[in-house]
Amino acid sequence: MNAKRPLVAILTGAGISTDSGIPDYRGPNGVWTRDPDAEKLVTYEFYMSDPEIRRRSWRMRMDAPTLQARPNEAHAAIVRLERSGLPVRVITQNVDGLHQMAGLPERKVLELHGTARSVVCTRCHDRTPLAEALERIRAGEDDPACGKCGGILKTATVMFGQRLDPVVLGNAMAIAKGCDLFIAVGTSLQVQPAAALAGIAAEHGARLVIVNAEPTPYDALADEVVREPIGTALPALLEGVLQEAGTN
Ligand code: ZN
Repeated sequence: MNAKRPLVAILTGAGISTDSGIPDYRGPNGVWTRDPDAEKLVTYEFYMSDPEIRRRSWRMRMDAPTLQARPNEAHAAIVRLERSGLPVRVITQNVDGLHQMAGLPERKVLELHGTARSVVCTRCHDRTPLAEALERIRAGEDDPACGKCGGILKTATVMFGQRLDPVVLGNAMAIAKGCDLFIAVGTSLQVQPAAALAGIAAEHGARLVIVNAEPTPYDALADEVVREPIGTALPALLEGVLQEAGTN
């Protein structure tokens, strides 16, 4: 009964948020798949050099469902697991903030690609809520500048052409190396370096479970591959983890 409690790492991608109404950007019906030009709106070089790209990018944020989205059953199941007392860490490729909104403590969520709920100044790094920037746009500004220094504002997301935060990535690597169970959910495991975390976990002896509708490059390494819809498959899977750990 005093056995070490297993550390559970959960890597989440777009697939966990589609039930919350947030589109998958790279899937078959993804925003960028249907409109390749949209990728420019989230490419750092274009964004910084072209005011028209910034205006279009802000309009996209106005139309995006991120701020209205609510967590779904899969997010809730992860919160239940964490509240059971098992050590749980979530590493997410999503920028929607739904894990925290579902109730996971901030410190247990690593946002590899940043967050779309905040806006950051590219010059003085001042951070403000996205809602504030959207409010200014609604009031008539089309490319709001930093209120402190006049610099270019952007969402606090990692755009194409930007490096991942080395501290966040380092923490994610450490979790992948140290966890006992690594569950990849709703990610195609095709975007590096996030995808490599699954391989690192398996190499370091973690049990690897992949929950994704489509095959991934890491399926052959996995101990278990689940193809069922995430909204039902993940709660069932995590219930099993709880029972195995004997915390129920
Ligand atoms: Zn500034």
